[in-house]
Amino acid sequence: MEHRTHNLIAPMPGTARQIHSFHFAPDAAAAGKIYIQASLHADELPGMLVAWHLKQRLGELEAEGRLRREIVLVPIANPAGLEQVLMDTPLGRYELESGENFNRRFVDLSQVVGDAIQGLLTDDPLHNANLVRQHMREALEREVPSTQLQSQRLTLQRLACDAEMVLDLHCDFEAVEHLYTTPQAWPRVEALSRYLGAHASLLATDSGGQSFDECFSLVWWNLQQRFGDRLPLSSFSVTVELRGQHDVSHPLAIADCKAILDYLSHYGAIGGAAEFLPKLLQPATPLAAVEPVTTPAGGLLVFFAVPGDYVEAGTLIAEVIDPITNQVTPVHNIQAGLLYARSLRRMATAGMVIAHVAGREAYRSGYLLSP
Ligand SMILES: [Zn+2]
Repeated sequence: MEHRTHNLIAPMPGTARQIHSFHFAPDAAAAGKIYIQASLHADELPGMLVAWHLKQRLGELEAEGRLRREIVLVPIANPAGLEQVLMDTPLGRYELESGENFNRRFVDLSQVVGDAIQGLLTDDPLHNANLVRQHMREALEREVPSTQLQSQRLTLQRLACDAEMVLDLHCDFEAVEHLYTTPQAWPRVEALSRYLGAHASLLATDSGGQSFDECFSLVWWNLQQRFGDRLPLSSFSVTVELRGQHDVSHPLAIADCKAILDYLSHYGAIGGAAEFLPKLLQPATPLAAVEPVTTPAGGLLVFFAVPGDYVEAGTLIAEVIDPITNQVTPVHNIQAGLLYARSLRRMATAGMVIAHVAGREAYRSGYLLSP
């Protein structure tokens, strides 16, 4: 295992931070690469504990000569956000200076890489895929960051851009385990959903935010739209939501670590027989079918539904209570589905999203993510 340190731009003198990456070597050269990071939203810590367990196990597997791919692990993807503790409250989702979400606005390489490889493609899909990886690396090397936030994003994107699989470990506020990926990747990701016991698998090609997972999968998608089958989709990404923010425990993390390693064995990245593949808990559904359940009024938020509940259309999800006027506002969902996540806050503001329900029929379009 090799430990590399990547310096970020210091916003001011004496405040330097680094990204630490851990590189586990395969038993054969040129075997491909898998990238796993945790806590890009720095207030989402279950993945960091999973990464720590993975770090121990990957070290053992490397020593046993069982790795069939290079595996790169970044347990703390957002040191800038991790330090945001404001009056005893950890933050870490948005950069304070710009207000930007740490998991948005990664560099879109589609155009620049497409222009660079035009005329260089052959009939060999493997050659073409390697060409894309080389030009992605070169394009990112040419990017010059001017802020700490840009240098953090660029460091992570450089580390992951040439991987064939990217796993980005997040969590929701209060939630059952779920994941986000693309419809094109789903046939390869389904086994991960099974091993993890994910209750929802939400699919979108472009959810509009240039998030970390999509800054890779979208490039390949856009290039394939431009150049056709000579360029197979040679990389896929998954945002894994490891339940809720408070679900940091050894039993959960050990189970999630095992699920990821079982998946990597099933995929062929770890040598040896793969574990029995459990059944899929729920079929994958479109991200555009997710209903953000919102309250029209502010007030005390009292939930009637918990994550993991299947709710029919019109189910009472919560009451929002104004103790001054005695007004009690019931909040119902519009479409049936699995309530997979809900807010941790108990004082709602008017217009706030209080829960998410994974429906079956797509009905939204355009930007599909939270801010
Ligand atoms: Zn997140």
